[in-house]
Amino acid sequence: MVDMASENKTKNQNSSIQLERRGLLFVLSSPSGAGKSTLARKLLASDEHISLSVSATTRPPRPGEINGKDYHFVDKDTFKQMVADGEFLEWAKVFGHRYGTPKAPVEAMLESGKDVLFDIDWQGTQQLYQEAGSDIVRTFILPPSITELEDRLRNRGTDSHEVINDRMARAKSEIGHWDGYDYVLINDDIEACFEKITKILAAERLKRMRQKGLIGFARKLMEN
Ligand code: ADP
Ligand code: 5GP
Repeated sequence: MVDMASENKTKNQNSSIQLERRGLLFVLSSPSGAGKSTLARKLLASDEHISLSVSATTRPPRPGEINGKDYHFVDKDTFKQMVADGEFLEWAKVFGHRYGTPKAPVEAMLESGKDVLFDIDWQGTQQLYQEAGSDIVRTFILPPSITELEDRLRNRGTDSHEVINDRMARAKSEIGHWDGYDYVLINDDIEACFEKITKILAAERLKRMRQKGLIGFARKLMEN
């Protein structure tokens, strides 16, 4: 299992005092098309202290997707073998394809002092929560309307008509899982939504329970 207590020694940004901190697992979920990948990309580009957990999937790559960067694209047999070998932290079937979070890279990222970003669905979020408890921060992204959701999927231009219809058919049941998350944001304006995400992350990083170094620091202050 991942050592969820991995320490992060570089994180008290904007402060000259560096306290050890537990790494956190930051989950973004949404119905397909609401904008989580766009938000994830912005976060990764602007914050060097968080890295993406690259999932494995049996879904074929979309145009422009890069193997190893967007996903590890594997066939069904390879995926099944990875499940049998216990290589996943969590996995689920979504839209008829299998998706899973490889365990080893997450452990390595936490070990190296990084927070980890997950673009996974509600099923994976539940499984990860069983493992990580309070080390996980769960954020759900809602579209401003169902019509806008469909427009975004069509304008994205990455899925066939059938796949879009399938995603739309599932959108409402996915939205139904909004209350399994710590934060729920409406992605109307992308910049405003992104700003909220950065604020959530900043506040979560400052939580007392994550500041392992505080015990020693406070103790020292209380010494004679
Ligand atoms: P998801 O990862 O949730 O499936 P994406 O991030 O791929 O969704 O976004 C779906 C489409 O909607 C993309 O073309 C993206 O550029 C666009 N998009 C995302 N957020 C907004 C927004 N706030 N306003 C308008 N378009 C958006
Ligand atoms: P897409 O095919 O649009 O990239 O992803 C479809 C859905 O699968 C999205 O909701 C995405 O968050 C989810 N997903 C991607 N990777 C994983 C994973 O490793 N585990 C789980 N449980 N869901 C994933």
